[in-house]
Amino acid sequence: MTIIHTIAEAQDRADRQRSAGRRLVLVPTMGALHRGHIALVREAFEHGDDVTVSIFVNPTQFAPGEDFERYPRTLEEDVDRLEEIDPGLTIFAPSAGEMYPGEPDENLTWVEVEQLDQTLCGRHREGHFRGVTTVVAKLFNACKPHAAVFGLKDAQQFVVIRRMAADLLWDVKVIGVPTVREPDGLAHSSRNAYLTEDHRRQAVVLSEAVNGAERLISRGEQHSEAIVESMLSRLRRAPEGRVQYVEVVDADSLQPVSRLHPGRCVLAAVAVFFGETRLIDSTFVRVPESTSDSSGKNGSP
Ligand code: AMP
Repeated sequence: MTIIHTIAEAQDRADRQRSAGRRLVLVPTMGALHRGHIALVREAFEHGDDVTVSIFVNPTQFAPGEDFERYPRTLEEDVDRLEEIDPGLTIFAPSAGEMYPGEPDENLTWVEVEQLDQTLCGRHREGHFRGVTTVVAKLFNACKPHAAVFGLKDAQQFVVIRRMAADLLWDVKVIGVPTVREPDGLAHSSRNAYLTEDHRRQAVVLSEAVNGAERLISRGEQHSEAIVESMLSRLRRAPEGRVQYVEVVDADSLQPVSRLHPGRCVLAAVAVFFGETRLIDSTFVRVPESTSDSSGKNGSP
């Protein structure tokens, strides 16, 4: 296992691997690794020879008042976990000063994907996606991957990063991996650790809501109002859940759609607070061509 802390080392290693004809794949994470992250790492090996997992709790993607300080940092356990998967992995774990020379608020250059960062989570987390795209751009420049793997759990993040790579002509293939879930359906998330037992039990409503939306759409429901209403009624079964948003949006533009178009792909997405803990879930669904075509499950993002 190789652990790298500086940009210079990461770039030097990437240059050497590239000259040796190796194909490089990056898995960006904030650590506190769980089964969702591990699925990304396994997928990464399908797309290249050398896999780097970056572990960096990025200060600029936390909006004011969010959980940057208390976000779980478990580097030792993460290293052990990755070692078990493949001792040939590289871990890139830079300090904040390495990624943001000076202080994060002295950074003057930002990458912004307009419009796509203003809907869904972007509407409620000021500056979040600007922080994400900027740090991913830096990670791409540090690790020089041919491909990078992201979870569809953070569906908007995936759409935004894919668009950033396309618009900036980045020669990096952006790969999405389906959400990995607990046995009851709750999506794995580093933030699940914050939940009380009671909230953890109630949190199953998120996956129930998006699964319900997927079923409705696959059976031919084309009115997003009806889909949103059905998701809301499922979410209301969690007495202590506070719904932040429930939306059905176009899978590419992330703009709300009122009437679903056959053949198009939509994203049904929810965000719910339990206490201070904010959870999200979502599903990409292809709208069937006709009501008899129920093959629309898991529309490709
Ligand atoms: P994070 O460490 O939370 O920033 O996540 C790092 C990467 O793991 C992101 O691309 C996430 O979308 C992905 N990820 C997080 N949770 C899951 C999950 N349950 N299933 C699949 N991917 C996930």
